Amino acid sequence: MSSRVLLALAIGVMSVAALTANHASAFCRMTTMGETQIGEQACVEDGDFLEWPIACLPYAIDERGSSSMAFDEVEQAIDLAFATWEDVTCDGEPVDLIFKPRLSSTCKRTEFRNPGGNVNTIAFLDPWEDQCGRAFSRNALAVTIVMFDSSNGRILDADMLINDALGPFAQCDPDLGCEPGTQSNPGPVDLQSIVTHEAGHFIGIGHSDVADATMFPTSPRTEVSKRDLAQDDIKAVCTIYDLPGNLDDNCEPYVINGFDLNCEDDGPPNCEGGVPVPSSGGCSAVEASPGKTPWSALLIAMLTLTVLRRRSAPRDERS
Ligand SMILES: [Zn+2]
Repeated sequence: MSSRVLLALAIGVMSVAALTANHASAFCRMTTMGETQIGEQACVEDGDFLEWPIACLPYAIDERGSSSMAFDEVEQAIDLAFATWEDVTCDGEPVDLIFKPRLSSTCKRTEFRNPGGNVNTIAFLDPWEDQCGRAFSRNALAVTIVMFDSSNGRILDADMLINDALGPFAQCDPDLGCEPGTQSNPGPVDLQSIVTHEAGHFIGIGHSDVADATMFPTSPRTEVSKRDLAQDDIKAVCTIYDLPGNLDDNCEPYVINGFDLNCEDDGPPNCEGGVPVPSSGGCSAVEASPGKTPWSALLIAMLTLTVLRRRSAPRDERS
C-alpha cells in the first residue's frame, strides 16, 4: 500500500495573491495540492477540491475551554460562527450544510484515526504548540487542520485550534468592535470573528484576497467584521455546497469510523514528519475507490493577527 502524508502550512499575510481560475471571484478553494494555495501564495488550481461528502457536520468543543471566557460563552460564540455559514442561502435555497454541536470533547490535539473513532474538535492551546511540542506561528490566532483523502479531496476530519496565548478572547460589541487596550495589556479578540473565519477552512474554503471577506487571511486585533460573510464568502460556500436534494432535515451527524470524543486516551502522538502529524494513523489508508491510491493528507490554514495596522485600514473602516 502506498501511503503518504502531505503537510501544508500556510501563514496568512496581507499581500495580494495572483489570481488564477480557481478564484476568479477572489475566493479560493482548498485542493489536494494546496500546500501553497493560501496565505500570500497564489491560489492553486491543481488537484481535487476539498469538500465534505456529507451535509451534516458535527463538532465538539474541548471541555477545558479558554482561560479567558466562561465555557457557555465560548459555546455561544462558536455556535453562532458555524450558524453564520449554515444560514447562507444560494439562489433562495438553503446551503447544503447543517452543523451539529456535540457534547464537549476531551481533545486538544489534531488527529484522524483509521481504524478508530474521531472527533472534529475545537480546542484552545497555551502554549501555542502541537501535541509534539512544535510551535505554531506566533502571530496565528488560530489554525484549522483539515484531513482529506488525497485521491479525491474528500474531507475526513477537521480540527480547529485557537491560540489562547493571544487572548483574552471575548464576545465584543458587534458595532464598536473590541476595546483596543494597550501594548502591555491588549484588549480582547472577538472569538466569534475568529471562529467564523476558521469555520470557512473547516468546510474547505481557502483564503480570499477581498479585504472585507471573512476569509481574508489576517485580522486586526479589534475586528468583529469577520462575523459577517461578504458576497465573496457566500459565493464560495454556494459553489461547494449547493447540491439540491443533498440536505436531509433529519440528518445524523457523521464522523468517519465513528465518534470518539476523547482523543487523548489514544496513546502517545505520532511525531514523525511535519507539523503537526496526527497522533495515530497519520499515513493511514482511508476509504477509497478501487484502483485509487488510498492515502490521506492534511492541510493547515490559519488566521494571523495583523501586525501592521496601517495595512488594515480598509477593514477598520467597515461598519
Ligand atoms: Zn485562514
